Amino acid sequence: MSMKIGFIGLGNMGAPMASNLAKAGHQVTGFDVAGTKAEGVAVAADLEGAVTGMDVVITMLPNGSILRQVAAQAIPHMDKGALFIDCSTVDVESAKNTSEAAEDAGIFAVDAPVSGGIGGAAGGTLTFMAGGSEAAFAKAKPLFDIMGQKAVHCGDAGAGQAAKICNNMILGVTMIATCEAFALADKLGLDRQKMFDVVSTSSGYSWSMNAYCPAPGVGPTSPADNGYAPGFAAELMLKDLGLSQQAAEMANADTPMGELARALYTQFVEDEGGLGKDFSAMLPRFEKRNRGD
Ligand code: NAD
Repeated sequence: MSMKIGFIGLGNMGAPMASNLAKAGHQVTGFDVAGTKAEGVAVAADLEGAVTGMDVVITMLPNGSILRQVAAQAIPHMDKGALFIDCSTVDVESAKNTSEAAEDAGIFAVDAPVSGGIGGAAGGTLTFMAGGSEAAFAKAKPLFDIMGQKAVHCGDAGAGQAAKICNNMILGVTMIATCEAFALADKLGLDRQKMFDVVSTSSGYSWSMNAYCPAPGVGPTSPADNGYAPGFAAELMLKDLGLSQQAAEMANADTPMGELARALYTQFVEDEGGLGKDFSAMLPRFEKRNRGD
């Protein structure tokens, strides 16, 4: 059944996601303050035009405060029984707050951040981590199936964001550990290919080592083989590590490795030229350093 879908935020991720919904036969109307467009998607002159009378409104925005603003503007124009899906990566509080505002207005709400990056958005192979009621998730699922290959219902409102930032905290920490181990191996005279052959089949294996190896010419093709062009940019990793620390403070959780990963990515992005590089460019960073630097 063809649905009327409003898509707010046609950036690197939102534009291909909106196009995939249009390609699947839905009537998609988009709006982005930057005036960006997406293939097969009608463009509304303003936010109101992209949300009024829609069966579903999807947002793919930079952060939680923009999400709150957009939700506050959109919700009053949406019909009761419609569905609001936020796919942005935002803080857990903003996700919960947005769901509550939607539900108070009789609108179903799901927080559904994604993993899979720009390639996954273009290819329709994203993974969705969703928070919200069973009924809201059931309504959203057919759309997740178009834009992605997997959707996990993680729990109530905010649970999708919680899963996303916990996953990315592990990713940031393991990438740093993998990079510093490669740099140590270099200094110990160990060949990188041998290091990969051992670790990728031993207890140090991880996605960072096995699927996204930070050493050029070793393991599967990754951003390291393309001069560390992202991929997943270091500043996006920093954003997610900031969100996990914000959540850890709110929940009174002790996360020393996550905190250290945030500090290292902050230094890398702000002072060491990491901005605009893939997050695996931590390896050349460690390569250049000595103990105590
Ligand atoms: P982006 O900056 O390319 O896109 C965001 C878009 O939102 C921009 O085009 C911007 O103009 C628009 N926007 C901002 N304020 C708006 C408003 N008030 N109304 C309408 N549009 C507005 O970012 P992106 O890479 O597409 O990422 C979007 C979200 O997805 C972020 O939360 C990011 O953390 C998350 N994410 C990104 C990736 C990735 O690899 N890029 C992967 C997973 C998750």
